[in-house]
Amino acid sequence: MIAFLLYLFYLVPPIGQLVQGGVQLQNGLAALKRIKEIENLPAEPVGAPAANTAEPVGITFEDVVFRYGDDRPLVHDGVSFAVPPGGLTALVGPSGAGKSTVFGLIERFYDHQSGTITVGGRDIREWSLTELRAALGYVEQDAPVLAGTLRENLMFAAQDATEEDLLRAVARTRLDDLVARLPEGLETPVGHRGVLLSGGERQRVAIARALLRKPRLLLLDEATSQLDAVNELRLREVIAEVAAETTVLVIAHRLSTVTNADRIVVMDAGGVRAVGRHDELVGEDELYRELAATQFLVS
Ligand code: ADP
Ligand code: MG
Repeated sequence: MIAFLLYLFYLVPPIGQLVQGGVQLQNGLAALKRIKEIENLPAEPVGAPAANTAEPVGITFEDVVFRYGDDRPLVHDGVSFAVPPGGLTALVGPSGAGKSTVFGLIERFYDHQSGTITVGGRDIREWSLTELRAALGYVEQDAPVLAGTLRENLMFAAQDATEEDLLRAVARTRLDDLVARLPEGLETPVGHRGVLLSGGERQRVAIARALLRKPRLLLLDEATSQLDAVNELRLREVIAEVAAETTVLVIAHRLSTVTNADRIVVMDAGGVRAVGRHDELVGEDELYRELAATQFLVS
């Protein structure tokens, strides 16, 4: 939740009021327009010109060292792994291993102290923040639904998306059934003032919202809560479909996600202890075998 709020604060500073005080989404949208105007100013200091494509990007961590403050313990003590462009990479490890922090560093909510992170083959520090965050889609764990209609929730961060883009994102995230079921379809108020969505639906709304921004890398922190069989299957299909088009890095809590991953990065105590596919890791890595048996709740 904290990372998501930071992310929203970047997109729309008054969103804090929106989330806390229930201010109408409309205010947030107006603010978003202002932010877009500000974003058009030549404010960012560094970096090569933005590639004007939605080509998937890979990322690498090389010996990354990070702590949240000078007097805080090391969270990453030499983290190294590589994610090639496209496909599905899962990040797993016990609670506190530093998985969410990997996402925080990729989003540049925080800066690593040493080592190198590259995005699309370029040092992350050479990307302007605007350009970097435009390239990233981020779906936080247990993503909230905002006050407003389903359409507003989906279009929230992608005002330029067309109706066709919207319908495609709805189809890709298997939200068609939900839209058909809602009394006013996409115009139905959702969230605490409207129709309550299930955890699985909220997660897919968050994925659709991220897809509408045409990310070159999708960061997905899977919900830990149980999904029913239908929602589980849908999530699996959605992740597979998105990973066929762009790079997906997922902090995985489900066996169905890791068994479908092209590669799994196993983190423990601030480092990477193994990388492989599910069947390889089950044979080779004791911690992974244990995680698979205990943490991954649903098969
Ligand atoms: P994981 O996602 O694998 O459970 P995290 O990356 O969330 O692990 O956390 C790794 C360590 O960093 C934990 O010890 C956690 O308490 C600490 N930590 C996480 N976020 C912050 C933060 N914003 N400020 C200070 N410490 C943090
Ligand atoms: Mg986490």
